[in-house]
This record gives sequence, structure tokens and C-alpha cells, in this order.
Amino acid sequence: MTVLDLARAEIRNLAAYSSARMEASGGNVLLNANENPWPPHGDDGQHLNRYPDPQPAELVEKLAAIYGVTAAQTLVGRGSDEFIDLLTRAFCRARKDGIVISPPTFGMYAVCARIQNARVREVPLRADRDFSLDIDALLKAVTTTTRLVYVCTPNNPTGGVVGLKEIEYVATALKDRAVLVIDEAYGEFSSEASAASLLAQHDNLVVLRTLSKAFALAGARIGVALAAPELIDLLRRVMAPYPLPAVSVNAALKVLSSEAISEMHQRVGLLCAERDRLLVAFAALPVVKKIWPSAANFLCLRFADAQLTYRTLLAQGIVLRNVSHYPGLTDCLRISIGRSLENQRVLAALGALTEVV
Ligand SMILES: *Cc1c(COP(=O)(O)O)cnc(C)c1O
Repeated sequence: MTVLDLARAEIRNLAAYSSARMEASGGNVLLNANENPWPPHGDDGQHLNRYPDPQPAELVEKLAAIYGVTAAQTLVGRGSDEFIDLLTRAFCRARKDGIVISPPTFGMYAVCARIQNARVREVPLRADRDFSLDIDALLKAVTTTTRLVYVCTPNNPTGGVVGLKEIEYVATALKDRAVLVIDEAYGEFSSEASAASLLAQHDNLVVLRTLSKAFALAGARIGVALAAPELIDLLRRVMAPYPLPAVSVNAALKVLSSEAISEMHQRVGLLCAERDRLLVAFAALPVVKKIWPSAANFLCLRFADAQLTYRTLLAQGIVLRNVSHYPGLTDCLRISIGRSLENQRVLAALGALTEVV
């Protein structure tokens, strides 16, 4: 048995769409893709009249090197959001198969499953233990129709991490039973090692990374899936033929230069220092009822009255994320770590609120 046996049979047997750009390479009189021979107005040498390379080798190789995997284990897409969608469509038969998630967590896993009409089983994080993963309950919730098990680490919106040893244990327990998807969107902010190091031993593991957060490239929509080569091939069949806009690829190559990467690490260091400083400062405010340790670029806080806090800060132009409707997060707001002056404004606003309550 291989991990592909878990995939939908019709996807496994699908002949992927073969685009003009895939079929031909080389040549300089390009008359095979019905493109316009002239670059568009304002092109600036980008050749945007041409369809883009579906998986540009330079970008794929750079990303593979950063994450410590091979190019064959690397797929680039339109944000990691795209991979959540592709995984759901490749593995879950409508009305038959399902996913397992551990709320409170990132909302897209359940949204993609519901679009596909796949079942969603919820195994809540342990609210009494800093929202850590309930591994025993998670494994018990997996049935013969479970296809995807999602673990987000650091978790959005609570900020907690799952250790590599635990991930390895779950991947082993799920072998031949389900695909374990580790969402590491905030991996750069955490000191925990990436699950990418487990890929060689576990063909049922997918690691999701993104350039949206630490690399500051949310606007370009570049996400990465790391998995066994056969699973990468499977996802490519479901993927659009030209998923990556050339302008986004160029932007991604710029943030992956060695100079840009050291600047990224420096800024991640600044954000982590700000996060740890704010954790202490927020915890000292009477209006803050609870605050969870975070290994990401945000903090999750419980207030006496989250609605009031949210509205008061909004009136001052400060926009936070209200996560009060997430299971287990009544009266909670998520605060992204901003620049030092922005964080100072949040702290001052919350401090003033304390005097009113
Ligand atoms: C922000 C976020 C993503 C989405 O990343 P994109 O690459 O921008 O699509 C994925 N997972 C989690 C947990 C996130 O918070």
C-alpha cells in the first residue's frame, strides 16, 4: 500500500491537463500557445505576454534548499491556502470521506472540506493545558473514511507548538490510514524543528509552508507543499495549469536571495522580541484575563469583554482579530505583532481601557 491508495481513484487515474508550456521547451519562435507576440504596455522586460513556467526550476530549487528537501518533494502554489483546497479535492470523496481538525484552529481546513462536501470531525485542543494537541483523542477519531488529519504548528490562533517527536508519533500511527498535514505557516517564528525532516521516513506526511508571513509576501500568494514525490505528482494533476503569476515568481525570487533571507531572520527576531515583551506587558493589565504563550507572530488574549475592547480599539483606528466565536476562545482577541510604535499604541489603548473597566 502507498499513500496514493488513500487518494480518490478518479484523481489517481486522471491524465493531467497538458499545457503548451509543459509540452514544449526551448525554441525562440513561440507560436504554440496563442500568446500575443508583443509584450504588454509597461512590461519592463517581464514578458507578461507569455504564459508563465508552471513550476519555475530556480524557485523550486531555492525553496527546496531552504526547507532541506529535494525539488521532487516541493510544489509551489498560490499560497498554502491553495494546497488545503487541492489536498481536500484529491483525497476526499464527497459525502463519504472526511478530515480531522483540532479546534480552535485555522478556518480554511473546515471550509475547504465543506465546499467538497467532506465530513469534518473535531477533536478540540486541550483548553486546560494551553491548547495542546490531544493526541490520543485525535488518533481515536480517525476512521476508515478519514483521509486528512490537520495539525497546525504554531497553531493559529492560539500560538502553541507541537513537538517533532509527537508529529512523528502521529505520522507513524496514521501510516496507510490517513495523510497527516502539518501547517507550518508560522514556522520561522518558532524554535521547533520543521516536520520537513520527517518526510523521507513518512510518505503520508505533507508539510505546508508559505512566504506570506515571515517573508512578508502575503500579496504575492506564494505557498509551498512539501511531500513525497508521488504525492506532489498527484497534487499537480488537480492544480491549475499555470498556477504562478510571473510577477509573483519574480517577487518570490527577490525575497529568497541570501541578503533578503538574513533581513527576514533579523525581522523575525525583532518580532519575536516584541512578542515576548508584549506578553509580559499585556499580562500585567487588569483588563487581560488570560494570555497564552505564542511561538508565532501574534498573541491570543482573553478579556473581560472582548466586544467592548475590540470596538474601543477600532474607534482609535486599531484593528484586531476577534476570535471570540472560535470554540474555547470566548472573549478572546488575536493581536498580530506590528512595528514597535504600533505595538505601543495597542498597549496604551489597552492600558487606558483598564482604567474605565
Ligand atoms: C496565514 C495562514 C495560512 C495561509 O497562508 P497563505 O500562504 O497566505 O495562503 C495558512 N495556514 C495558516 C495557519 C495561516 O495562519
